[in-house]
Amino acid sequence: MFTELLEKTYTQEITPELALRILEESAEPDNAIKLFEVASRVRDEQIGKDLWWSSGISGIFPCTVVPRCTYCTYFTENFLPSKDIAAAAKGIADLGIKHMHLSGGTNLQGYDRELVELIQEIHRVSDIDIEVNLGPSLAIDTLRVLKDMGIKSVTSSLEVCNDELFQKVKPGDSLEARKNLIEMCEREGMSVRSMIMIGIGETLKDRINHLFYLKKFHRLYNLRFSRFYPYPKTGCSMLPRCSPWDLARTIAVARLILPHVQLGLAAGNNHDDIPLWLLAGGGNQVGGVTISRKLPQPSPEQQVLRISDQLYIIDNRQLIEHYLKDMGRRVLYECPSN
Ligand code: SF4
Repeated sequence: MFTELLEKTYTQEITPELALRILEESAEPDNAIKLFEVASRVRDEQIGKDLWWSSGISGIFPCTVVPRCTYCTYFTENFLPSKDIAAAAKGIADLGIKHMHLSGGTNLQGYDRELVELIQEIHRVSDIDIEVNLGPSLAIDTLRVLKDMGIKSVTSSLEVCNDELFQKVKPGDSLEARKNLIEMCEREGMSVRSMIMIGIGETLKDRINHLFYLKKFHRLYNLRFSRFYPYPKTGCSMLPRCSPWDLARTIAVARLILPHVQLGLAAGNNHDDIPLWLLAGGGNQVGGVTISRKLPQPSPEQQVLRISDQLYIIDNRQLIEHYLKDMGRRVLYECPSN
């Protein structure tokens, strides 16, 4: 019976009803194995078997959202100095990585001027490909400037796509503004990256509606999946941690709905989630290097390079490569065109 549901996705356009049934029934492990096999095959056929490296710097600008999102502990309150970010970008590029994200925080009034000046500073020292993720506000003129500057994509993270739930968990933010940004990028021909939070109280139907909302955007190139973590002292601390099983099945169904889109792992996941993610049809961008404001505890899993007393490059490529090599996969430095 479940096999017949999957076979329908070969012969007809997947519908929300079919996607929801597959997601529900894949809770049974025997079904999930069949789903993962199909999703992995779709990934290999549509975007290839090779993975590729990316990197990221988070918390570059302060988050001014009030009240804070009820699950968040990672907002920053200060600007990271532009020269330090540029030095980090150069340090990442010196490792051979050709792609990076600049992320956070959110300001509903926009950080347009600060963002353009920061990119100019980075461009003075590095030609690394840049993607930006700064909440929902970006003027159309700034978007055109970013396009002229060669920015590879703009992120608009909806996180949840149900108005009532969004209002509950992101009361100081605007779902409408985030949707407007995706729509503006679509009209202007700018690639879009987005994020979806799994396990924050949304129903399975909400997830499917979210994925089908995104499906209509041809410029969507990357969707990243956060796995909810109930941080103590947050408004969501009473919710259960999102199960990796729940996440993997959702990624596999997303692969059937969005076959050409990069499907990645975001906050709340760690490196040990990578094998299940790949098995479920996730891929192909992998974050190998991040930037930390603190010197991390020594770990055999990562190499640390000092940029300044406030900034360190955390290089996780060795461990990730080891995991992926075990699965017969390699990670390239070349980025696919969006
Ligand atoms: S917008 Fe919300 S999730 Fe993002 S940094 Fe600010 S408080 Fe945290």
